[in-house]
Amino acid sequence: MSHRLPAAVRAAALLAACLAFPGAEAATSGQRHVVLVTLDGVRVQELFGGMDPVIADAPAADSGIYDMAVTKGRWWRETPAARREALMPFFWKTLVPAGILLGNQEKGSKVTVRNDQWFSYPGYSEMMTGEPHSEVKSNDFVRYPHRTVLEHAREALGLEHAEVAQIGSWDGLKYAASSRDGAFFMNGGRDAVPAGLSTPEIDLYVDLRRQVQQFWEETTSDVLTYRIAREYLRKNRPRVTWIGIGQSDDWAHARRYDLVLDYLHIADGLLADLWQTLQSMEPYRGRTTLIVTTDHGRGRTPADWAEHDAGIQGSQDIWIAIIGPDTPATGEARNVAGVTQGTVAATMLQHLGLDWKAFNPDAAPPVAGSYEAPR
Ligand SMILES: [Zn+2]
Repeated sequence: MSHRLPAAVRAAALLAACLAFPGAEAATSGQRHVVLVTLDGVRVQELFGGMDPVIADAPAADSGIYDMAVTKGRWWRETPAARREALMPFFWKTLVPAGILLGNQEKGSKVTVRNDQWFSYPGYSEMMTGEPHSEVKSNDFVRYPHRTVLEHAREALGLEHAEVAQIGSWDGLKYAASSRDGAFFMNGGRDAVPAGLSTPEIDLYVDLRRQVQQFWEETTSDVLTYRIAREYLRKNRPRVTWIGIGQSDDWAHARRYDLVLDYLHIADGLLADLWQTLQSMEPYRGRTTLIVTTDHGRGRTPADWAEHDAGIQGSQDIWIAIIGPDTPATGEARNVAGVTQGTVAATMLQHLGLDWKAFNPDAAPPVAGSYEAPR
């Protein structure tokens, strides 16, 4: 039996579908929005393979797993495919099939940082400017003079201050986001949100974020940061948003592999909630590209998985997922070489309909095959 229909019938069916589901129509027209989510220091091993046997089977002193039976019950499955789906079900069953994911080296898809530092600020700087900068050598809270993709997007699109937003659990993100103070809305780990942009709910989350204790002093609760970002999206409808969370890095530095895994499952739930929120409201429904990535990898061995930095092999390995109305449903990329962290900037601009070369001709180009212009 043939399912082929004459072109006119197919066109009529498509029109009917568009009338019935406004989102289907929105997917092919309308102003574009971009949300970048960064998860700090998430290794390719967990992202592509779930619970890593190299760490899980190491002595407890290396993995830091408190109760092996509990952790294996939660996250161990026989195959890497089953393990990653158990750990991050929304990411693997919903996001990846609808978009493109790069970084699985077993499939010939490698994504690396180009900076030679292999820790946070140099990585975020590379994403925000499209290329590494040799003077960025510490996580100190200082601004560098390099214009960022967020500054460029605001100017090129003529956006209001509140329409470009950076919200994160760590103050370093606020500095990496812009070459100057006040270029757009920026929110550090313990900052309040100004009254005109806030809501009682946001104020409550800000207050809680200052009180909830963290393992390390310099970061705040990702769940609360996410809630602030979600309410900010609802109230202020930014065109370009960067949400930066990172307890993955905190638990790893604390050498608690069990809590790293538990956290990744929580982060997957935040991504699910974010995507559902975006698809449930205007102007985001069907018009928003979500980019999810990490600033650096970590060591590959039981001895050094908890750390990262120049010289710790594995710290350079990262991954990037792109999902949205203009990205073909490719799933896991195969045999895509030479993708570097700086691609984030050009990819954001491309999905906003902007010319990335006008921002920085030396920026890493967008990922080939990740974008089809709307018709
Ligand atoms: Zn770190």
